[in-house]
Amino acid sequence: MRQENPSDWDRQFAWHPFTNMGLWLQSQPLSIVSGKGCKLFDQNGNAYLDGNASIWTNLHGHNHPRLNAAAHAQLDRIAHSSFLGFTNPPAAQLCKELCQLWTPAFHRCFLSDNGSTAIEASLKIALQYHQLTGHPERNTFASFCGAYHGDTLGASSLGGIPLFFQRFHQHHAPVLNVASLQELETHDPTTLAAVVIEPLIQGANRMHFWPENMLRQLQHWCQAHGVLLIADEVMTGFGRTGKMFACQHENVRPDLVALAKGLTGGYSPLAATLVSESVFKPFESSESAATLFYGHSYTGHQLGCALALENLAIFREESVLERVNVASVILQRVIRRDLETLACVANIRTRGLIAAFDLVHPVSKTPFPKESYVGAKVCLNARNHGLLTRPILDTLVIMPPLCVSADEITQIAAALRSALLATSETNPC
Ligand code: PMP
Repeated sequence: MRQENPSDWDRQFAWHPFTNMGLWLQSQPLSIVSGKGCKLFDQNGNAYLDGNASIWTNLHGHNHPRLNAAAHAQLDRIAHSSFLGFTNPPAAQLCKELCQLWTPAFHRCFLSDNGSTAIEASLKIALQYHQLTGHPERNTFASFCGAYHGDTLGASSLGGIPLFFQRFHQHHAPVLNVASLQELETHDPTTLAAVVIEPLIQGANRMHFWPENMLRQLQHWCQAHGVLLIADEVMTGFGRTGKMFACQHENVRPDLVALAKGLTGGYSPLAATLVSESVFKPFESSESAATLFYGHSYTGHQLGCALALENLAIFREESVLERVNVASVILQRVIRRDLETLACVANIRTRGLIAAFDLVHPVSKTPFPKESYVGAKVCLNARNHGLLTRPILDTLVIMPPLCVSADEITQIAAALRSALLATSETNPC
């Protein structure tokens, strides 16, 4: 009799995120059992390049000696103790270091568990800030069409991707969803608590790049109208765009910033909401109304915070941003060299260590019908060429760990090219 293995248990018991389970159950699940650097290894010992940095989280590679050592050292002390009523050294140090990464420095850091909760906390802080400063009428948010800020109901209220969010609309908080800054400017700002934006790039919106200077202009508009600016750096933070934070490309220091994904180098769930001095001020009062009624059991998780501190130390001590900028130029050049001439590839766009392009019909140059799942087919074929990545519909995204080498970039582009040639819809290219 065949022995059961973990993939059988997955089939029987697991429910995967953003996954059509009917299709999943017809597929052969790939089980990742280990990793080293930019490589992931499956249950059969096959190696793959981690082309989307494990859903945009991994920075310095898997199984990293410094991060491993930091985790072991922290585990030898303690994994977790409550931040509710107590403090702990790694969490306190992390709050300080995250605030001081910005100019001017942030004043407070509120820790939580993931990107959605970092946004959720920022929304509640913004609402309560206006209540405490005598403006309870500022009780709505503005966000952008195509936005993705997470899946908890508050964060999903901001979402501007109908496929994901429309069905929950009835249960969402009131949000003004606008296509552009120009459209925002036509609305009455007096009931807005905050505007939330993914700076420079909307990730889940097929890597949509904002026009240059838009973020800066948005900041001016917010400041002029007493509206807080919340930057969602969950995807763009920690070097991904070539600077530590995307806001720094336009010299913007928002009122609140949400961080997650790369905060621990891709090792453990942890998130932070950074808060400016003026936003924190009304919360300094000892009146009960000034208490922020928000938090999670794992807030200030010691193991996660120790990993995040080591992540920041690696940035400081190993010239990570310099290496990202060298690798970005290579990524841009190699992707264009190997893929631009293929007739099914359109609109290649790159920024830092992010590259994306759209798949189009090689002859008519029009998008494929949604139900043909061409992006997914290309990514499945890419596995046969040693590359794992995930499409956003028919947009292919390459976002390797920041430690990716020139050789690995060449292998990624070659694997993509082979996968495009091996997929009937995209070949002949
Ligand atoms: N904001 C942005 C910009 C994101 O890309 C994501 C996740 N892809 C989130 C928020 C939500 O993060 P999480 O999945 O950790 O809740």
